[in-house]
Amino acid sequence: MNLTEYLDGMRVATSAEELEAAIKAPFKHSFRGRTWSQICKVRIEKGNEICAAHAHGRFVPIFGPRGLITLCGETYRMGHGQNSTGVRYIWHYAKTWAIEVLARNGFSQRAAYAVWDECGDYPHRCLKRIEEALAGKLPDPVLDTLIWHERSYGSPIAYTVEQNNADKYDRRATRPCRCGGTLFDWGAGFSAGFDFINWHCNACPDVATEYLSPGRLYEIRSRKAIIEAAGGI
Ligand SMILES: [Zn+2]
Repeated sequence: MNLTEYLDGMRVATSAEELEAAIKAPFKHSFRGRTWSQICKVRIEKGNEICAAHAHGRFVPIFGPRGLITLCGETYRMGHGQNSTGVRYIWHYAKTWAIEVLARNGFSQRAAYAVWDECGDYPHRCLKRIEEALAGKLPDPVLDTLIWHERSYGSPIAYTVEQNNADKYDRRATRPCRCGGTLFDWGAGFSAGFDFINWHCNACPDVATEYLSPGRLYEIRSRKAIIEAAGGI
């Protein structure tokens, strides 16, 4: 397969699935240089075209010329970044705008992030995420509630409340585990706009993830939150 055949494969696609198959056709190319630019141009143009013709296409953020983004009939103009920090902020503002527009159109935060993460270089991939969202498959997590992952492998963490209390500078938040042991704040992360903490127990191998309402991570880490009875924080 040569470049022309590869590009033509994308050009004749009439659905997101066909475009995806054309993208994955066996044509060896590098991911840089003029050939790659040409491939991206055809792929994005075709992706935009497929989205425009699709019943759910209005939920896809489409990047037009001069930094213009169209989404749900609204438009947003991205500024220009003078340096890498500036560029990062411009993307941050654009993302914030898009998430807010999708939220107003009934998308959960998780679904809005999923759509945004696919847009730009691969707009047609948003359609799948949108279908999942409209089918209710991307609901937001319940906040400030432990979501248990029962594990038959692994072992409890080797850490005691006494050891923790003796740690002056790195004392972890704790809370009672359902097994009677103590859960410790064993690391935090950020997913689809939500902070979360992974709680590990010192008596059982189970792990709990807690997605947090805004400000809650700070409260927990700065010990301003009181977490239920025993153990405290
Ligand atoms: Zn436990």
